[in-house]
Amino acid sequence: MARPNQITMCSFCGKSRSEVKKLIAGPGVYICDSCVTVCQGVLAKELKSESQKEVRRLSVPKPAELKQQLDRHIIGQDDAKRTLAVAVYNHYKRIQNVSVDEGSPDDVELQKSNVLLIGPTGSGKTLAAQTIAKLIDVPFAIADATSITEAGYVGEDVETIILRLLQNADYDVKRAQLGIVYIDEIDKIARKTENVSITRDVSGEGVQQGLLKILEGAVCNVPPAGGRKHPQQEYIRVDTTNILFICGGAFVGLDRVIQRRLGSRVLGFSTSNAVSGPVRFSSNDALRRVEPEDLLGYGFIPEFIGRLPVVTVLDELTEADLIRILTEPKNALVKQFSKLLAYDGVQLEITPDACQELALQAIRKGTGARALRGLLERLMRDLMFEIPSSEGVCSVTITRAVVNGEALPIISTKPAAVAA
Ligand code: ADP
Repeated sequence: MARPNQITMCSFCGKSRSEVKKLIAGPGVYICDSCVTVCQGVLAKELKSESQKEVRRLSVPKPAELKQQLDRHIIGQDDAKRTLAVAVYNHYKRIQNVSVDEGSPDDVELQKSNVLLIGPTGSGKTLAAQTIAKLIDVPFAIADATSITEAGYVGEDVETIILRLLQNADYDVKRAQLGIVYIDEIDKIARKTENVSITRDVSGEGVQQGLLKILEGAVCNVPPAGGRKHPQQEYIRVDTTNILFICGGAFVGLDRVIQRRLGSRVLGFSTSNAVSGPVRFSSNDALRRVEPEDLLGYGFIPEFIGRLPVVTVLDELTEADLIRILTEPKNALVKQFSKLLAYDGVQLEITPDACQELALQAIRKGTGARALRGLLERLMRDLMFEIPSSEGVCSVTITRAVVNGEALPIISTKPAAVAA
């Protein structure tokens, strides 16, 4: 420790106490306020250049290429795939170029464009978000809007979402900060003012406010162990500015909100023509005409809508789509089961009429393509149980009658096995 009459000076720049505003003492050393400022600058620059390195490492395919790759995994949903490809491409181009543009006089600030996917259950919203994150090799996390509660209530808070992303990035903060988060069931946090239900609280709006913070970009203090914040806990600081948020929901009833707006407008024009009434659109046509005011009418606060400027609609999957989903995508269910059986030297054939029957049954369940896996799993369970211990089986054929439970799978055995 310095004796009272000893001249103390900054150990970095050598200025004495009287020459600086503040002199901070450490064990045997001193640092003045201006050296602290210089150090801060150096640190900020280094940290920034490190995260820039991480950003530059990303190789983002062009939108057309991204779309082409999405086509290998997702059947139909052309609009959504196109929109996502453009949004994701722009997002990463924007952050890759931020440092290049900084300080230039004509600097046009490009704002982050989070995405809203509107589409029925099992139409591929989660799959699309997940696939695109995989294609550009960034960490990805899925959250459910209904499990998030306002801070202070029992449930997850928004930091948990970021924690999940961080975990999926192996706690590499720089990588997590470039990730994609998919928030499912976003429609469930709409304010329910119109159909007033006393049991349904106003927390929807509170959750919107909470999410707003991370959607627009904030530094989140993430408790590393998860759970609620604790004053003594050390937090990991994650900046959400460059995280892309994709929100999705079925938005049941939104078509009616849109229809009402479109209907009244058409009526307004119809005064000169007494016979024309309001034009009715199919649910999907109506949804494609969604405007921010409709989301406002549905129960979202304007700031929240403003943070989801890219909106796209996914169609309800048709029978033909579901049949294709069974067989065409890179990881199609039929391909997966075929591969599993092939390990045992058995060839699997699911006839086209069996696929059609599976599609029809899935439609009846009303959960889109989600039902397909369950249906096929049930169908295959006994086979998967018996085949590994059956000798000489070379192929299994599943027909429509098998799917309907009216027949057993056709099993062929190798001639050699028969002879033996
Ligand atoms: P959503 O998020 O819209 O409810 P998901 O993306 O979770 O639906 O879909 C559930 C599963 O159904 C997916 O994992 C995938 O296997 C299949 N699936 C759904 N939509 C499609 C699609 N358009 N193309 C291919 N598979 C699909």
